[in-house]
Amino acid sequence: MQESTLWQAVLGEIELSVSRGNFVTWFKNTQLIRYKDEVAVVGVANIFVKNQLENKFNSLVIETLTKNGITPSRVEYKIHTGISPQIKRLESDVLRNQAVGPSQTRQSPRQRATIGGVTHSYRQGLNDRYSFENFVVGAGNELAYAACQAICQKPGSKYNPLFIYGGVGIGKTHLIQAVGNAILAAKPNARIVYASTEQFVQEFVDSLRIKKNTSDFASFYRGSDVLIVDDVQFLAGKERVQDEFFHTFNTLYQANKQIIMSSDKPPKDIPTLEERLRSRFAWGMTIDMQTPDFETRCAILQSKAGGQGINLNQAVTEALATRASSNIRELEGALNQLLAWCEMRGVEPDIAVVSAMFESDKARPKHISARQIIERTARHFHISMEDILGPKRDKDIVVPRQIAMYMLRSELHLSYPKIAHELGRKDHTTAIHSIDKIEKELGYDGSIKQYVSELKERLYA
Ligand code: ADP
Ligand code: MG
Repeated sequence: MQESTLWQAVLGEIELSVSRGNFVTWFKNTQLIRYKDEVAVVGVANIFVKNQLENKFNSLVIETLTKNGITPSRVEYKIHTGISPQIKRLESDVLRNQAVGPSQTRQSPRQRATIGGVTHSYRQGLNDRYSFENFVVGAGNELAYAACQAICQKPGSKYNPLFIYGGVGIGKTHLIQAVGNAILAAKPNARIVYASTEQFVQEFVDSLRIKKNTSDFASFYRGSDVLIVDDVQFLAGKERVQDEFFHTFNTLYQANKQIIMSSDKPPKDIPTLEERLRSRFAWGMTIDMQTPDFETRCAILQSKAGGQGINLNQAVTEALATRASSNIRELEGALNQLLAWCEMRGVEPDIAVVSAMFESDKARPKHISARQIIERTARHFHISMEDILGPKRDKDIVVPRQIAMYMLRSELHLSYPKIAHELGRKDHTTAIHSIDKIEKELGYDGSIKQYVSELKERLYA
């Protein structure tokens, strides 16, 4: 369905620009219900998400929708009743958390341990979308992958602790979550704790502030069989938390429990990390994870597209893998954007679409007005403003007019009715047809392609 593909692309981009916590709490279980008359209706699970999106993230949502080809004048957030049990669960969690006020937004470990039995609480934090099966192995991540696999065979015996570091979006969270999921699949009662460092810090601070003692907190973390802590670079500068983490680490290590950590830098480069932690982090195995190489990126793209039932041809795959090369999150974002683009226009993903997409994606100065675009298009084709805005249907006027419409769409992301209005047309379907026509012609007509790229160059010269 076109809304859901578009929304996936939007979420993919938002995931890049907000923190993981914000993404999971506010965006993850939302959906685009419909887009009509420039109003986008987004379904959300409850009133808290609605308020938060309205007050804090509305402009980000509009901006990202616009980047993905639609230009809403307004977004409505509706509490949606057709929500899955998973969303319902989230809703009750949010309600529970909100009810006790902002300073207590997390359950204490004790509370959590009594909800749904020990196994359930210890499973918290794992997301089953991260598995070894859907992780593509290649140069850059194979060592980390092998170490994680080995740990699953016999947690706590080899590579303890495992410390994986590398840049953002290269698959660290995916891999270390996959370890938790795989161990849990083999041993459903294993006490696996996955926590982001931010969560660890927050829970520690809450336990001090609210309960005035940290014993529940400590026993929860020290009672795990496998402790997975993501992004430990955030321990920097937090003395008391480092102290707590030190004791947790020692207890687990002495009991031969597995510890896995990720970070964006090696232990020696984490500033203000206590020496005793720094040395312990390096006791086991430290792995430098790299951005996957070109071939691996291609394989990842084909696997992700395949997962959506789409077959990407080699040329398209390579073009995407070349352009989105810094990390896998960006690669996924580019793929989703491409699929949404194609779906909305009813075209197959081909190399021309990829070029057009990246072309319109380049950062453009924002000070160009619709009027300027039309004027420059008219001048480029040596016709008058009167003609381009007027009723004449001669071919040497119609084509520039269509190109002007296309430019308003690709450069300013204006809505169809606005584009029609700017060109003195009453009916916005004219704009839709014109833009579609130019977009299609860009794929096979060399002269149209040339006009458009020259025009763009002049526009921003
Ligand atoms: P990091 O924690 O290093 O910032 P993530 O684990 O969050 O990165 O990865 C970003 C995205 O890329 C996730 O959606 C993840 O599933 C995907 N990803 C990363 N590496 C791979 C891979 N080798 N195979 C499949 N998906 C991957
Ligand atoms: Mg991560």
